[in-house]
Amino acid sequence: LWDGILSHLKGRLSRPTFETWIKPATAQQFDQDCLIIRTPNPFARSWLQQHYAGAIAQAGEQVIGRPIQVDFIVSEQSEETSKPVIEREPAPVAPPANVASLNSKYTFSRFVVGANNRMAHVAALAVAEMPGCNYNPLFLCGGVGLGKTHLMQAIGHYRLDIDTRTKIAYVSTERFANELIEAIRRDAMQTFREHYRRVDLLMIDDIQFIEGKEYTQEEFFHTFNALYESGKQIVIASDRPPQLIPRLQERLSSRFSMGLITDIQQPDIETRMAILQKKAEYENMFVPQDVIHHIASAYTTNIRELEGALIRAVAYVSISGLPMTVETISPILSPPRTRGEITDEAILELVCDELKVSAEDMRSDSRRRDISQARQLCMYLLRKYTDLSLPKIGQALGGKDHTTVLYAIDKIEQSKLRDPEVQRLLQRLGNRLEADARH
Ligand code: ADP
Ligand code: MG
Repeated sequence: LWDGILSHLKGRLSRPTFETWIKPATAQQFDQDCLIIRTPNPFARSWLQQHYAGAIAQAGEQVIGRPIQVDFIVSEQSEETSKPVIEREPAPVAPPANVASLNSKYTFSRFVVGANNRMAHVAALAVAEMPGCNYNPLFLCGGVGLGKTHLMQAIGHYRLDIDTRTKIAYVSTERFANELIEAIRRDAMQTFREHYRRVDLLMIDDIQFIEGKEYTQEEFFHTFNALYESGKQIVIASDRPPQLIPRLQERLSSRFSMGLITDIQQPDIETRMAILQKKAEYENMFVPQDVIHHIASAYTTNIRELEGALIRAVAYVSISGLPMTVETISPILSPPRTRGEITDEAILELVCDELKVSAEDMRSDSRRRDISQARQLCMYLLRKYTDLSLPKIGQALGGKDHTTVLYAIDKIEQSKLRDPEVQRLLQRLGNRLEADARH
């Protein structure tokens, strides 16, 4: 019956619709003229129900010659894999963080390796294979949405696959800090400490948020030492290297640098395409190659956004009933950026003009306040509006090294948050750059 329905529908629906929605579904059961169809995920189920239930029922009627009913369920297996949190060790008495909350999708097999993350990937694998022996701690750093959390959790999955009894803690810095406060409040420090100090693998995410939290830093320092001394593995993720985390105790910063610090860069176009391809496969979505290329070209800096665009594209074609082509999905992609047209010369010129400093001063080593401010601003704008790498930006400003550039960008970002004056200045400069670029 299902095969018959498929061949009917194939003729009636567009190929992308068929490939995306109908093909991944299977017949679960046919009983008393009711056909139950199994779909790969909850999203697909509601789509099919809303848009194609009628077409399927009609096709069914044509195949067997009498009316049928259709109903949809979500395949159990996929329901499990789409569950965001897996819980190991229910452990009734321990605090909630005793549970390793790992996203089941963040495994090594789903991680696409490219030039941007090769080192980090190798290091993570080494740590997963022999925790405590290779790089301890492993410090992963990189911008937002570039795969730090994914890679970190992949280490956890790997360990659990080898031995389900491995004691793992994956925790965000924020949660660690909150649990600590809660433990103090409830007079349960003993439990808190025991919990974190008896694990085999501690993964702490977004450590940059520990900045300025003195008490959390203090406690984490001791946790770190206890684990480190007993040869347990620690993995840390951060959006920047330790020395650029403001108000981080020196002793922590130096501990974070004891093992290996490895960074994840922005992915190149091939890697972005491979990531989309893999995502489409896992989600059972059919997406033509030129569409993959088109999406990958539009999103360069954040993999989360890249994946989001793919999901939107698939949803869009199925709502609109249009075929999945580069033209049809264009409206749902972000507007093209003016970026490419803003040149580094234009930025230098503009900053000189606005802040009344000379280009020569900006390239010099002068530490005069107005000059170094203009220089930092320039680095920030170059990062924001051009594709220049950090070392290239350093070069453009008289051969500064990339950590100086990173520091400058960070400084501007910080003062942007604190100082409305800086915010307005940035706004004005941005507007001028974009206006000039359009001419
Ligand atoms: P970060 O923690 O660095 O902000 P995440 O690890 O949360 O970034 O990654 C953002 C999204 O991009 C996740 O859905 C993740 O699975 C995906 N992702 C990132 N890097 C890769 C990669 N190399 N291969 C496949 N998916 C990736
Ligand atoms: Mg993260």
